[in-house]
Amino acid sequence: MNNVPLILLVEDDEPIRRFIRTSLKNSGYRVIESNSGEGALALAASHVPDLMILDLGLPDIDGVKVIEGLRDWSSMHIIIVSARGKEKSKVEALDTGADDYITKPFSMDELSARVRAGLRRMSQLGSAGGSKCKIFNVGELSFDLDRRRVLKKGAEIHLTPREYRLLILMAQNSGKVLTHRFLLREIWGPGSENETQYLRVFMANLRRKIESDPAQPMYIFTEIGVGYRFVDEL
Ligand code: CA
Repeated sequence: MNNVPLILLVEDDEPIRRFIRTSLKNSGYRVIESNSGEGALALAASHVPDLMILDLGLPDIDGVKVIEGLRDWSSMHIIIVSARGKEKSKVEALDTGADDYITKPFSMDELSARVRAGLRRMSQLGSAGGSKCKIFNVGELSFDLDRRRVLKKGAEIHLTPREYRLLILMAQNSGKVLTHRFLLREIWGPGSENETQYLRVFMANLRRKIESDPAQPMYIFTEIGVGYRFVDEL
């Protein structure tokens, strides 16, 4: 057994790929790489990596197709790399099953932080701990799923049933970017995917209830034009 995380790097731009590979290896990760979508699918099947960094603009098949092909059988953490101005494909990739994104140009520090968060999430999913537990804490918040209660510094926060479901869904996917579309479908049901104003109102209410300063949130972050992310670690 090798406990060093294995990262699949998919990028057709050779200098960028070399730069990312070198940094990841310097951080102690094992790296395999591909410059195409088909190559990525083959490597994912043969090596079963822990995490994938996927450039969406590939020469053969679209990055979204790669995610579709993987999500049938793999729950590996997928970080997509997208160019500025490609908001639509970014959201589509997240809706298809990507977990996180980073926009070019990015710093290696930024990418490393996302990789660490993704690997942490994978190890939590694989263990008995983390947010799969019936009772878990994030910062000053305590979640008690059996009693359907959320406490802040020991005091119960009064949530409507829908606010509760929304908060639990976010907290159970901490560190992952959840799109407007995904949240609306999960909480309001199919057909409400475009009602982003519902979501804005509920998020504002939730923040007032859980955040000490709703204008400077420490739990629920806005991903502009994409969705929301619950803090991955405090
Ligand atoms: Ca590219």
